[in-house]
Amino acid sequence: MTELSALNRIRIEVERDLCIGSGDCVDAAPRVFALDDEGKAIVLDPDGATPDEVVDAARNCPVTAIFVVGEDGDIYP
Ligand code: SF4
Repeated sequence: MTELSALNRIRIEVERDLCIGSGDCVDAAPRVFALDDEGKAIVLDPDGATPDEVVDAARNCPVTAIFVVGEDGDIYP
């Protein structure tokens, strides 16, 4: 398992094949997510918002393309 972030102790993964580039995650947490030049979400900084805000952003993804993992395993979904 790759490292968890320094502050939130989470890891965020975006399933690029699922992402439709809606930008909801960027709107919800603009310091955590951005759209790359293919219009797909990337993770800028897993510590750019509180863990709750990260999970809310993941929950708002219309295609459930954002996965949040913590020290005890899956946080969302
Ligand atoms: S909310 Fe989901 S579908 Fe929309 S850009 Fe973010 S990861 Fe992609």
